[in-house]
Amino acid sequence: MPTYIVLLGPPGAGKGTQAEILAERFGLPHISSGDIFRENIKKDTELGKQAQIFMSRGELVPDDLTVAMIRERFSRSDCVRGAILDGFPRTPTQADALEEMLKGFGGRVDLVPFITAPPEALVERLAGRWTCRAHGHIFHVRFNPPKDQGICDIDGSPLFQRDDDKAETVIHRIEIYRSQTAPLIDYYRQRGVLAEIDGFAPIEEVAAHLMSALTS
Ligand code: AMP
Repeated sequence: MPTYIVLLGPPGAGKGTQAEILAERFGLPHISSGDIFRENIKKDTELGKQAQIFMSRGELVPDDLTVAMIRERFSRSDCVRGAILDGFPRTPTQADALEEMLKGFGGRVDLVPFITAPPEALVERLAGRWTCRAHGHIFHVRFNPPKDQGICDIDGSPLFQRDDDKAETVIHRIEIYRSQTAPLIDYYRQRGVLAEIDGFAPIEEVAAHLMSALTS
């Protein structure tokens, strides 16, 4: 049976870090819509040019562009056994589109860990976050520092601070999350797949809670 896991939670709750851990443990692809957009911006594609306008303001990229991009990602064969989705869906329209796409594989969203963290922690987490240039691996100056400052432990590429992790944009992203993405909490609760996980704990502890939610 394929296993599709959607990580839900506000920006800064730790979705990306936990998605990397889960993808490795389950041997499933980690699909981060934000990473795919950033990749497109780096390569200066048409999609990247359009996405950048919204991302730089901390707003959501329109649903039609986002869904088309994910549809293309799901057309690759590595997704047939399942996937860890990080940052998609972010609106009920995207969630409906995901349901349709997975039906095509005979799959469904199996579990939605909803990673929570107190609002005051989110800004600190995002503002201290450093991301690897090559593959988007995530570090934090306090909570998960790299062994060598400014260098990714995993692939040795330079670390950079995302433009949208700067303080003013972060606050706007949290507001956008509340108005547009938070409705997905009820959407998935009603489908009986939501599992609330306290994200305000050390990375390994959160990962252990996630693993027990996934295997119970
Ligand atoms: P993330 O890396 O998940 O924090 O995403 C960074 C930015 O990419 C977001 O603030 C949005 O501008 C855009 N983005 C990522 N995923 C989506 C999505 N599913 N829908 C719309 N915009 C998205």
